[in-house]
Amino acid sequence: MVYFVGAGPGAPDLITVRGKDLIERADVIVYAGSLVNPALLEYANPKCSVHNSANMTLEQVMGVMLPAAQERKLVVRMHTGDPSLYGAIREQLDLLDEAGVPWEVVPGVSSFGAAAAALGAEYTLPGVSQSLIITRAEGRTPVPEREEIAKLASHGASMAVFLSAGLLDKLAERLIAGGYAPESPAAIVYKASWPDQRVVRTTVAELEKAAGEAGITKTALILVGRFLDSPYDRSLLYDAAFSHEYRKAER
Ligand code: SAH
Repeated sequence: MVYFVGAGPGAPDLITVRGKDLIERADVIVYAGSLVNPALLEYANPKCSVHNSANMTLEQVMGVMLPAAQERKLVVRMHTGDPSLYGAIREQLDLLDEAGVPWEVVPGVSSFGAAAAALGAEYTLPGVSQSLIITRAEGRTPVPEREEIAKLASHGASMAVFLSAGLLDKLAERLIAGGYAPESPAAIVYKASWPDQRVVRTTVAELEKAAGEAGITKTALILVGRFLDSPYDRSLLYDAAFSHEYRKAER
C-alpha cells in the first residue's frame, strides 16, 4: 500500500493525526525534500528507509515505491501542504493503478491556510469577497491561457498565488492589467508556520521591491485582494437579527 500524505505547511505539529501515524508505521518514506520539513522524519521508525525525491525523477520515485509496496511494505509518499495542490500526485496514482498497487491519499493543511493564519486574515470576508482563487503565474511551467493572471484578477476575488515568488514583476503587471489598482493590498508570506516564517504586507505595485528588501525569493505565497485591508460586513450567521436553522432572531 502506498499512502500519499499531506505533510502540512511546515510545522511538524500541523500534520494530521492520520499522517503522523502512517509516518510512524512506515517501512519506506519518499518525501519531497525541497519543501517538506525534515523534522517530520523524526516521527519515523529508525529502521525505515528514507528517500528524498528532490533529486529523483518520477521513474526513480516509482522504482523505490513499487517494489516496496509489492513486498507488502508500508510506503509513505510525503508531499508538502495538501497533495492535491501542485503535488504531481496524479501521475504517480496512475502508475500505481497500472501496476495494480493500492493507494490512499491523506489530505494535509495547505500553505494557503497557514498563510491566512499568519496574517489573521479571512479570505471570504462578507461584503468583500466570497471566493478564493488558487493559482500560479506562468513561468517555465505553462498555465492554460484562459487562466492567465489578468483574467483571474478581473474578478476582484481573494487570490492566493503559489510558485510565483520569483516572478513578482510580471505577476504585479498582470494583476494590474486585470483591474487591480497598483496600491491594492498584497501580502507575501514566507515559510508559513516554520520557525523562520516572515510576513510582509505591501501593495500589488510594490510586490517585487518588498520581496527584494526582505530577501524572499522562494517558498512564499503571494496573497492579493481587498480581504487584506477593507471594511467588511459582519457575518449574518452570528447576527442577532438573522434567523437560521439553529437559531431564532432576537428581534
Ligand atoms: N501542496 C502545497 C503546494 C506545493 S507548490 C500546499 O498545499 O501548500 C509549492 C509552493 O507552495 C511554493 O512555491 C509556495 O508558493 C507554496 N508554499 C508551500 N509551503 C509554503 C509555506 N510554508 N509558506 C508559504 N508558501 C508555501
